[in-house]
Amino acid sequence: MKKPFVSKEKLEEIAAQYPTPFYLYDEKGMRDNAKKVEQAFAWNKGFKEYFAVKATPTPRLLKILKEEGCGTDCSSYTELLMSDACGFKGSEIMFSSNVTPAEDFQLAKQLGVIINLDDITHIDFLEQVAGIPETICCRYNPGGHFAIANDIMDNPGDAKYGMTKKQLFEAYKILQAKGVKHFGMHAFLASNTVTNKYYPELARTMFQVAVEIKEQLGIGVEFINLSGGVGIPYKPQQPGNDILAIGAGVQKVYEEVLTPAGLGNVAIFTEMGRFMMGPYGALVTRAIHAKHIYKEYIGCDACAANLMRPAMYGSYHHITVMGKENARHDHKYDVTGGLCENNDKFAIDRMLPKIDNGDLLFIHDAGAHGFAMGYNYNGKLHCAELLLREDGSVEMIRRAETPADYFATFDFTGLFKNIK
Ligand SMILES: *Cc1c(COP(=O)(O)O)cnc(C)c1O
Repeated sequence: MKKPFVSKEKLEEIAAQYPTPFYLYDEKGMRDNAKKVEQAFAWNKGFKEYFAVKATPTPRLLKILKEEGCGTDCSSYTELLMSDACGFKGSEIMFSSNVTPAEDFQLAKQLGVIINLDDITHIDFLEQVAGIPETICCRYNPGGHFAIANDIMDNPGDAKYGMTKKQLFEAYKILQAKGVKHFGMHAFLASNTVTNKYYPELARTMFQVAVEIKEQLGIGVEFINLSGGVGIPYKPQQPGNDILAIGAGVQKVYEEVLTPAGLGNVAIFTEMGRFMMGPYGALVTRAIHAKHIYKEYIGCDACAANLMRPAMYGSYHHITVMGKENARHDHKYDVTGGLCENNDKFAIDRMLPKIDNGDLLFIHDAGAHGFAMGYNYNGKLHCAELLLREDGSVEMIRRAETPADYFATFDFTGLFKNIK
């Protein structure tokens, strides 16, 4: 069973102060998990997790992760600005962008962050717009299918990211000639993997290439970035990843492939987003309408503009009706938001206890790629984000958007100046 990290009484108390919908994050959960990640890779001296900012771009949460030893992974100008404002320094920021505008490279260079080049043509581009730094990372795409045993995990051959193997070797050669002193390698081959084998298999692929690079070019990469893609179990009966087993799996391959090749000092980096935050955030919404037509609908005060994953990917997000955890799940509902879009459904044909107007719904596992993917369709506004502290207190970490925020980009027209 999936259990909310907050009781009904506490949630009602919070909702009395902050109107629904809102996101609620669990400080204890995220800290405990971050500590476990550190522990899983403690065998590697240079290990660092660079949290993928795009998953949950909320300064207060980034600062908590910073306290737990994480850096950030950015892919845009504003993500770089946010990381800088939160106090992350040069080597604590990875810039894994693609289709990168000149201004973004310029800011990255100015902040002294680790630039991860997505393409071989970006070498000349970066040199022209910002100059080549002493440390650089290259993103690898091995093409084809990425399979574990016979299970196809994903299809890198279809992905827009990274360089071919030939380009990767060429890129290191060119960069070395241009004076680069420290090299890294990055690859992201599958998303939301729920198997302890993904990182070890990815590591083997990358480690073998690192050995070839050393043998053929005499370049010893100093860090290998396994990137994101470690998933979480969205469904209640689904077993989750064991990060300690994943860390041990990577260590085994490291000792098998890198150490004997004289690459025993390579630092392992990760850029997890979902695994770091997914389970530790929930979208909290209230049922405000019940509609009986050809099917049974529960309408709530949140919509796909607050959490897009079900509408966009058909993703499952578990829903707990607060206070009715032990009631019989004998009603079949579509749980919907109010967008004029029929895909605005958090759940379809979901067996739930009888829902009454006013019930609080806790939509699980929305802590990553949740709020962040929100949008303003139908003029719907972004909701607040709240932090449930370890001591049980609650802190607003992002206020809800107001109509005035929504109209802010029309300020030059004067049309909305009386709107609050
Ligand atoms: C999205 C992304 C991540 C994080 O992915 P998760 O699936 O959330 O772990 C890491 N690195 C890069 C370059 C990404 O684009």
